[in-house]
Amino acid sequence: MNNFSSTNRKQVIAKAKNEVFDLLIIGGGITGAGIALDAAMRGLSVILVEKNDFASGTSSKSTKLIHGGLRYLKQMELRLVNEVGSERAIVHKNAPHIVIPEKMLLPIKKNGSLSYNLTSLALWIYDFLAGVKSSESRKMLSKEKTKKIEPLLKGKNLQGGGLYYEYRTDDARLTIEALKKAAEYSANCTNYTEVLDFVYKDEKIIGAKVHDSFLDKEYQIKAKKVVNATGPWVDLLRTKDASLSGKRLQLTKGVHLVIDYKKLPVRQAIYFDVGDGRMIFAIPRSGKTYLGTTDTVFNEDLNRPLTSKADIAYLLKAINTTFSKTNLKESDIESSWSGLRPLIHEDGKSASELSRKDEIFYGESGLISIAGGKLTGYRKMAERIVNIVTEQLQQEEGKKYTVCKTEFERLAGGNFANQEEITDYIIYLTGKAREIKLTIEHIKEWVYRYGSNTEKILDIAIENNQNRKDIDLLAICSELHYCIDNEMVTTISDFLIRRSSRLYFDRPRIKYYIDELQEILVQKLLLSEAQSQQQKADFMERYQDSRTFV
Ligand code: FAD
Repeated sequence: MNNFSSTNRKQVIAKAKNEVFDLLIIGGGITGAGIALDAAMRGLSVILVEKNDFASGTSSKSTKLIHGGLRYLKQMELRLVNEVGSERAIVHKNAPHIVIPEKMLLPIKKNGSLSYNLTSLALWIYDFLAGVKSSESRKMLSKEKTKKIEPLLKGKNLQGGGLYYEYRTDDARLTIEALKKAAEYSANCTNYTEVLDFVYKDEKIIGAKVHDSFLDKEYQIKAKKVVNATGPWVDLLRTKDASLSGKRLQLTKGVHLVIDYKKLPVRQAIYFDVGDGRMIFAIPRSGKTYLGTTDTVFNEDLNRPLTSKADIAYLLKAINTTFSKTNLKESDIESSWSGLRPLIHEDGKSASELSRKDEIFYGESGLISIAGGKLTGYRKMAERIVNIVTEQLQQEEGKKYTVCKTEFERLAGGNFANQEEITDYIIYLTGKAREIKLTIEHIKEWVYRYGSNTEKILDIAIENNQNRKDIDLLAICSELHYCIDNEMVTTISDFLIRRSSRLYFDRPRIKYYIDELQEILVQKLLLSEAQSQQQKADFMERYQDSRTFV
């Protein structure tokens, strides 16, 4: 049985009700996904529950970079830069289809936050700490060379630039590919399952009471160890466990805007000074350029952080003062997302000064909570948690567990030795797709989303072809079929937001295909009319949110 298929949901739940698991993980963001994979690989029986869809929290709303965090160097967080810097290469190796090297330009301006010489030194230290190979080490550029590389940059005050490597990713897909791999190792992962309360015996935590909102069923999950990996919601669960003491979270909001590429045609990703001591990114992707981010203290509804007028004014001003021939306005924004950083509160520090380090909290009941950190460092965070869990289990039960092996395991879809293999795969599939008139563009889009699993989607398209005239529609419908059967897509939002990012990067075209997609969901998941309407209404709310500025 494929335990990561929405069509097998009832079976997964039946198992969840009847087994005593070694580990229950709460939260299906990148942190929970990494823990599930590591623990399942070490032989633990694992269940992960997510109250909404996987990656629906912060893990679909980041800057989508696997990066060492140059700015942490400024804060002298050398251990953090060292750890996440070295992790980049590992995450790239294990998911080469969704973690792709990206040259980043850092323009240096008179009165900017770093001088030319300091930037040169900082980038050298950055590369050194991350163990970057010499072919990818930083290059310093003259003013003329910088202007040549990025003609859009305003020349006034420009002194030169630095060119260095980061990796771009798709945060939600990274989470899904980790979960899919965990499921291959028999982890049971289920979305739309919220932890309502904990279950205790002799004051020790032994599981949780959960509610499945898709089937509208409440049940109990029993587990020897419980990990709270709920990102911004970590303190809410610590409160439920009566263990919220000592350090606590400070949430900050970060907003990104999506613009048509033609309106901001940057030639590569660029990371530039804003003028208030902060820096922002502009990154080209899929015919768009997205930019961000902001960093402001957040105390509102965790389930629906919205983009404000002040957020967009800040970002548009930064763009319009940095680039010539751009006069971006609110009406140029096609879409946006707004995410919450679960940071650890430190007295007297501003949002931007708070550390991005992860932190582990222990409840008297045995609840282990983890928050903070970065997408980039998810594997090491998972290793730390699973080391704690296996040590405890070993002490309590005498059973031995292996050490962490995730460094050597490719995520789902990542079965490529190098970039050449990806190119060969694209050529091979394009040849096969010709019979149904799918183009290399369709294949490329899939391969950089589903990696080595793409052929399965193409086979669905070939089977469903029936001489359909609208090839784009055939492609997207085949993708949805695959995602329902293999990626636990349950709602139209799961597919259009988390699995394929279409809400952000294809928003204007969604109205052309949404009805056909919803019909597939109705038929495959036997949705009632009311369920289908509700799904569509939920999606439309997110659709509006992505263009509503409060
Ligand atoms: P989340 O992704 O929020 O996952 C927690 C999950 O728990 C949620 O899906 C939620 O629905 C679920 N949950 C909550 N309560 C319950 C419950 N009761 N029962 C069941 N489930 C529950 N990092 C990088 O490395 N690179 C970047 O470029 C980068 N950019 C960023 C930009 C911004 C604006 C932000 C906000 C963060 C950025 N980060 C970046 C950091 C990174 O995105 C986060 O560290 C990471 O996504 C946090 O993942 P998580 O799994 O801990 O939390």
